[in-house]
Amino acid sequence: PAPVVAVVGRPNVGKSTFVNRILGRREAVVEDVPGVTRDRVAYDAEWTGHRFTLVDTGGWAVDATGIHLRVAEQAEIAVELADAVMFVVDATVGATDDDEAVVRLLRRSGKPVVLVANKVDDQRTEADAAALWNLGLGQPWAVSALHGRGSGDVLDALLEVL
Ligand code: GDP
Ligand code: MG
Repeated sequence: PAPVVAVVGRPNVGKSTFVNRILGRREAVVEDVPGVTRDRVAYDAEWTGHRFTLVDTGGWAVDATGIHLRVAEQAEIAVELADAVMFVVDATVGATDDDEAVVRLLRRSGKPVVLVANKVDDQRTEADAAALWNLGLGQPWAVSALHGRGSGDVLDALLEVL
């Protein structure tokens, strides 16, 4: 069976946009309103001839309650079931407390993690991506899911850990 890759991160960092970028089609729902992807949604993906299952998840607010708690639980289940995790951070915002909490959870999971520093739309934002070395997850891959910048490199990095 194809390896499973979970895409996790806070709401609105661009997880679904990134999933669509990888799929090459607009299938995952992108919304300006946080928390639209409520459940785990799996897609068949492929990069340079290598197939994998890509699982988009809802936003991950760690101290969540109600529906947001259910969404966070789905993200945790996605990590448990995954062979590798793509952790998406909004590089223009930087690492928040919620991001740090996700990092701790990912460490506990023991799963290989590829750090996606998203919303690096141009050269000027590259420094924002570099600041994410501080998360201690290795290289932050500067990506613009919106425009496609850097997406090939991060997928090459993903294949290395699968
Ligand atoms: P999700 O909640 O993490 O799945 O985030 P979405 O994919 O729904 O995107 C949330 C918002 O961020 C939308 O308005 C996207 O258009 C925007 N967005 C996503 N990726 C990028 C990016 O690379 N650059 C910019 N500037 N905006 C982005
Ligand atoms: Mg989404």
